[in-house]
Amino acid sequence: MKCYICAQEGKTTEAAGICIVCGMGLCTDHMVRSDVDLWEGGYPFPAQKMKKALPRILCPECHAALQE
Ligand SMILES: [Zn+2]
Ligand SMILES: [Zn+2]
Repeated sequence: MKCYICAQEGKTTEAAGICIVCGMGLCTDHMVRSDVDLWEGGYPFPAQKMKKALPRILCPECHAALQE
């Protein structure tokens, strides 16, 4: 999979991760890692049972949307 954002800029960079919200492929320059807060609702894992926060990989758009 290629980085979707790089592809939009005319570059082909191999994706190093995938946005867990929209499934967009992301290279290391474009992924946003956030491992602070878990979502409520238990998807994909039951949040209540986690001993520590899971790292999340988001695209910039989804990260911005989740900041509100
Ligand atoms: Zn990229
Ligand atoms: Zn996304």
